[in-house]
Amino acid sequence: MTEKKTNLKVFISVDMEGITDVIHFDETSEKNPDYPYFRKLMTGEANAAIEGALAAGATEVVVRDAHGLARNLIPDELHEEAKLIREWAGSPLGMMEGIDKGFDAAVCIGYHAKASTPNATLKHTMIGLVLDVRVNDVSLPELGWNALIAGHYNVPVVFVSGDKAICEQANGIFDTIDTLAVKEGIGKACLNLHPNKSKQLIKTGVQNALQNLNKFKPLKYKPPFRIELYFKDEIKTYNASWYPGAKRISDLGVMYETNDFFEVMRFFKICV
Ligand SMILES: [Zn+2]
Repeated sequence: MTEKKTNLKVFISVDMEGITDVIHFDETSEKNPDYPYFRKLMTGEANAAIEGALAAGATEVVVRDAHGLARNLIPDELHEEAKLIREWAGSPLGMMEGIDKGFDAAVCIGYHAKASTPNATLKHTMIGLVLDVRVNDVSLPELGWNALIAGHYNVPVVFVSGDKAICEQANGIFDTIDTLAVKEGIGKACLNLHPNKSKQLIKTGVQNALQNLNKFKPLKYKPPFRIELYFKDEIKTYNASWYPGAKRISDLGVMYETNDFFEVMRFFKICV
């Protein structure tokens, strides 16, 4: 059964590596001549999500530019009913900056799989130096980490679009989430939908998810929380091991335990 909720407030986090046809890091960097084209595609998928949210009855939509310098979405090409958060605040909220308990749902667009995933386009976790992030023994892609941040504020992530690999990882982490694969990695190559098809499917997918909000739950683990960070660079691990209460657990791993999830977020912010 679908419902049209009134006064729906929706948060949309938009990354770039999982946007249709983005298949190389050069295409995601403002230093590259191809970048203006791909930021336009990113803005198009953000708009599709906004349109889906509005069609489901959203009266407030906040978009978080969550890639690179966080200055990718083209402001005057973004749907005028949305507000846009640009740049990094420097807070533990990171890719979810701006979320709070007032939102009914969060949507993640342009997301990608975690580091070391086979057949995943532009896979990585946060920054290139991170091998893995584990919370309460679950290895998390950025989507999972960001969903725990949303969950801390009791907001469910209801929809994700990106490559097929992140959709598979999403289904392993969430009890219920709607996923849309706009592309599929073939080693380093990638099979893509047409960008217009992706936009149509994102719009209807976001609308559908928001019209069935009751089936989604905020992602939350039970305390005590145990976060493990693994870095490719031992020096990063050494530095993180000096965080108050942190423990070195292996050559490349450091862990921290607490009953307060915000303290997990703070540890991550300071150490990554
Ligand atoms: Zn990114």
